Amino acid sequence: MSAFVFREDSYARTLPVTVTAVTPEGGIVLDRTIFYATSGGQPGDTGRLERANGQFIAIAGAVHPDGDKTAILHLPATDQPQPEVGEALTAVLDWERRHKLMRIHTALHLLSVVLPYPITGASVSEDKGRVDFNLPDSPDPAEVERQLNALVEAGHPVSSEWITDAELEANPGLIKSMNVKPPMGQGRVRLVRIGDIDLQPCGGTHVANTREIGPLKLGKIEKKGAINRRVTVFFA
Ligand SMILES: [Zn+2]
Repeated sequence: MSAFVFREDSYARTLPVTVTAVTPEGGIVLDRTIFYATSGGQPGDTGRLERANGQFIAIAGAVHPDGDKTAILHLPATDQPQPEVGEALTAVLDWERRHKLMRIHTALHLLSVVLPYPITGASVSEDKGRVDFNLPDSPDPAEVERQLNALVEAGHPVSSEWITDAELEANPGLIKSMNVKPPMGQGRVRLVRIGDIDLQPCGGTHVANTREIGPLKLGKIEKKGAINRRVTVFFA
């Protein structure tokens, strides 16, 4: 199991961990973590680190320090106690928030199936997600919403598998995003598979079955430049 447990098990809500470093700014480094760090348009997780004495350290976010995708810094909220290096803690996610992010994130994969156009940007929050497509003409929002909800209700399983960087380079058609590069450089890349309808490299967190996303509604489709359309998805 990797140090980034959320990549293997996005449903892990708590995890025994050990502090390996505390930065001068108070960022906490752990030997392993369930906190997803901000990247690829998905915000970092929030939650808390529980100490053996019952105290806890509220965590307001998680980031990759200086963009280093091999490391994660846990950022305490203001006025939190600072742990000792070597201290054993229990990491606990704000699961309600994370699960919403997983549902919206997975919904955006389905949106890329309904609208199979090059992607120029994407972002996920607790109540909505949006994707910018390289798409000169606006699609019919009602039809997009109908197809999207049909894919949710079809109950497609979501799974992941790993390939090498070289295998991904040999199959550039897997990459849907034009400017969010897949997390390469660590020798292997995770692919996320949704039934037999979608397969793409992604480092985010996903639900295990599309039915878990629940009903969705589409916002208005916005024009963002001559050949760009922004499509926003909400929980219905
Ligand atoms: Zn994803």
